[in-house]
Parts: sequence; C-alpha cells; structure tokens
Amino acid sequence: MTVLVRPQALADFKPREFQMLIDGRWTNGAEGRIIERRSPAHGTVVSRYQAATGADVERAIQAARHAFDKGAWPRMKGAERSNILLKAADMIAARAEELAFLDSIESGKPISQARAELAGAVDIWRYAAALGRDLHGESYNTLGEGTLGVVLREAIGVISIITPWNFPFLIVSQKLPFALAAGCTTVVKPSELTSGSTLVLGEILMEAGVPSGVVNIVVGTGAEAGTPMTEHPDVDMVSFTGSTTIGKLTMANAARTLKKVSLELGGKNPQIIFPDANLDEFVDAAVFGAYFNAGECCNAGSRLIVHNSIAEEVVSRIAELSKKVRVGDPLDPGTQVGAIITPEHLAKIDNYVRNAAGDGADIVHGGAPLDLGLGQFMAPTILSGVKRDMAVAREEVFGPVLSVLTFDTIENAVDIANSIDYGLSAGVWSRDMDTCLQVGRGVRAGTVWMNTFMDGASELPFGGYRQSGLGRELGRHAVEDYTETKTLNIHMGPRTAWWMPR
Ligand code: NDP
Repeated sequence: MTVLVRPQALADFKPREFQMLIDGRWTNGAEGRIIERRSPAHGTVVSRYQAATGADVERAIQAARHAFDKGAWPRMKGAERSNILLKAADMIAARAEELAFLDSIESGKPISQARAELAGAVDIWRYAAALGRDLHGESYNTLGEGTLGVVLREAIGVISIITPWNFPFLIVSQKLPFALAAGCTTVVKPSELTSGSTLVLGEILMEAGVPSGVVNIVVGTGAEAGTPMTEHPDVDMVSFTGSTTIGKLTMANAARTLKKVSLELGGKNPQIIFPDANLDEFVDAAVFGAYFNAGECCNAGSRLIVHNSIAEEVVSRIAELSKKVRVGDPLDPGTQVGAIITPEHLAKIDNYVRNAAGDGADIVHGGAPLDLGLGQFMAPTILSGVKRDMAVAREEVFGPVLSVLTFDTIENAVDIANSIDYGLSAGVWSRDMDTCLQVGRGVRAGTVWMNTFMDGASELPFGGYRQSGLGRELGRHAVEDYTETKTLNIHMGPRTAWWMPR
C-alpha cells in the first residue's frame, strides 16, 4: 500500500473573496455572478471569484488596447520596465507563503511543492527583467555606401494569456513577465478552478508600479471568458497553456484575424531505460516523474520504455518505492502526492486504468481512487504489459498512472517513443553517453533529459514538438517571442531615380 496522510478538516475556514482587475480597478463582473472553488482535498469552499461575462472581457481588452496604443508602458525605457519587474519579483518572494497556500488549497498540490514552484517563479520574473533590459534588434552597415539597415524589435501589442489549473502561479510566470518586459499589455485568464494566486499577482503588479490597463485579469470559464480572448480583433497574440483539444480550438479562433499563437499543450512523455543505467537513481526519477503533481503535469514521465532484460527488476523496484510515496493532505509538509483537481477528473483517470486492465494490462500497484474521508485522491498506479496501441499508452491520462512498455534495441525504443502524437519531453537513462545522445537526437521532443528527469531552469527553452505545442517559453529568446520585427531601410545621399538614371 501507499502511505496515507488523511486530510484535516479546514474548520472555521473563511473563504477568500476576489474581484477582477480591469484597467487598474478591482471590479465585480457585469452580472455579479460568483464562482466558488472548493479545496479538492478538503471539500471546503476556499475562494469566491467574480465571474466575467463577455462584456467584462470586452472592457479588459479595451483597457489593454488603450494602454498599449496610448499608455506609458510600451514607451518606457527597458530599464524602467525591468526595475518594476524586479520590484514585483521581490514582492512575490515576500508573499510566497500566501501564494503557495492559495495554489495548494485550490489545486490540491502539496504545500512543499507549491513553495518550490514559487521560488522557481521568482527566478523567472528576475530572469525576464534582465532579458527585457537587453532586448535589441540588429543593424546592417554592409549594404553599400548609400544604405543603412536597422532591424527593430517592437512589442507585438495586446496579449491574451490563458492558463490552466495544474501550475497556477508557475505557468502565468512563464508568460506574463516576458510579455511585460517586451512592452506588451495583457488580458490574463487563469483557470476558474485556481484563479487566486493570479489575482494576488495582480495586486502585486499594481503595487510594484505597473500602470493601469497593462495587466487585466478576468476570471471565468473558457467557453465564456476565454473564447473572446482568442477571437477579438484588438488582441494581437494569444499565449495558451492547456489541453491539445483547446489548443487547436484557440489556434482556429485566432486564425480568423491571423493572430500569433503560442501553445504549450499536452504530453505523453517517455522515460527510456537501458540495462547499463544507474538503477537506484532511475527508480527514484521514475517514481517522481510519474507521481509529481499527482501526474497532473504536461511533463509527467507517464510512459516507461524499459529494456526487456531489466523490465522485471525495474517494475518490481518501482512498485516497492511506490509503497513509500505519501499521498493525502496537501497542507501536510510531508505529503508528496496531493488531491485530484475535480471529481470528474478523478473519474476520467479511474476509467483509463479500468479500460487498460480490461484490455489486458496488469495493475502492479495501486489502480483505484483512495478514500481518505475527505476530498478526492488517486492511488499511485503502475500498469505493466501495456501495448503501444492502448489508450493508456497514447493519451494524456493526467493522473498518477505509469504505463510500462518494453524494447530491445535503441531503434525500437526511439520508434516507440515517437509513435504517438505528442512530443513534449523525454528521459533517457544509460551510463553510455553515446546511447544517450543517439536517443536524444532520435526522439522528437522539445526537451530530452539525460540521466535525470524534469529538471529545469529559466535559461532553458521549454515547449513541444507536434501536438504538444507551438513555440517555446523561457530561454533567452522568450522576450523576443512577444515582439514584431520591423525593418528600417535608410537611404543616405542622392538616390538613383527610377525613371531617369543619373
Ligand atoms: P483546458 O485546455 O480545457 O483549459 C486550459 C485553459 O483554457 C483554462 O483556463 C480554460 O478555462 C481555458 N479554456 C477552456 N476552453 C476554452 C476556450 N474555448 N477558449 C479559450 N480558453 C478556453 O484544460 P482542462 O483544464 O479542462 O483540462 C483538461 C485536460 O487538458 C486535462 O485532463 C489534461 O489532459 C490537459 N491539460 C494539459 C495541461 C498542460 O499543461 N499541458 C494543463 C491542463 C490540462 P477554464 O478551465 O476556466 O474553463
């Protein structure tokens, strides 16, 4: 069995009430409708938000448009914007505990993990601030006596930022500071399940000196509040993280006005393990990769592709370690796997496992929801004997479920890894760097970890191949993604007339 940490009831808990941020003012929705969020681990209402209607989103877009077309932010020196972002980073760090708590109770993720995500987010805000100050174009002094070429980088305009529930503060931090550093203005819509920390971020940004209208935050469902953000002619770009299905819809909506889109979508990421790998390290990384954030993670290492000769040993060692994983109350600092986001999502995970078992996969560990008295939880689950064509081997389960497949040659491993629609990330484990590099070059994924898993840094680009997305976040080009390129072709001296050559 797994170690269970039973949730403590949130007795006398006072839910936090939030308004939306439009044009620098905290405001109610036009219809005054309220969205309530219950802690997925405790069942208690923890947050109440004002729900945005189409009219609220329209006001937010117009505020961002005005702030871009007429306001100070895009016209400030890069250094001034950078200083405001650095101030915001310090303020995020100062309120990290409050933000981590909100993310933990709204999403169900372990508090210790939420704290680590906040620390990572602070680093990203600082990195974006530094990049924004260095944003520059190019010049060409090699085009002949009479010509000077100057290539400008200009802020692209109004950006719609749409984020999911699995990493509420971290994901908005992978987008917003870079857009702001470039001089863009924004309308942000967090998932309506986990909007709290993004709204607190709005408070922080106003206090740090971001002018009114530059960051607008609306709360609402994707269908009602998200759709106009992807279709509106006054929006210049959409930066979206979420499911591949909604990513495709976003792209189709944006295509009508030919907006730029940046999409971070799903993954079904393989970890490929060779017989010469350090098994102790690998087993730990396999358990971490599969169960981190309860598997509700686009980067989850949900497919294990293990060499035939070690498959039995690897599976039994992963099952042994899985028994030690602590599942339960996210607010207990020792918890490693928290609650599942909604009862509907738990049912979806459960269905994947049942169907896989029905199709012939073996449940080696876990395999069912856990009853901890409060909230909704899923047992860390290992499925062996999984075949390439099973849904559980191809689709994003988004739960703590590890599917084990086997291979015999490097080519076979790479072939299995590439045989699905996704291409977000992958891991390869071998003491032979030659093997790692062959796999690294062969696998079609945006990140390949070698002898580690799910490490990251603000400096390293992140994003997917194929149906895992479009574009990259983080890395030194992240601010450029929110810019247009403009060529100034400058003539010096007398110009040769077209109609009467001199
Ligand atoms: P969605 O893709 O539905 O949601 C992501 C964001 O998009 C949310 O803010 C959502 O709003 C918004 N949204 C939904 N519909 C629209 C729309 N028509 N136009 C614009 N925005 C929209 O993901 P879910 O949260 O429903 O999760 C479903 C599945 O997606 C998961 O089971 C998982 O497989 C995958 N997923 C992948 C993520 C990743 O990081 N790659 C992250 C989250 C989910 P709202 O939720 O408020 O309605």
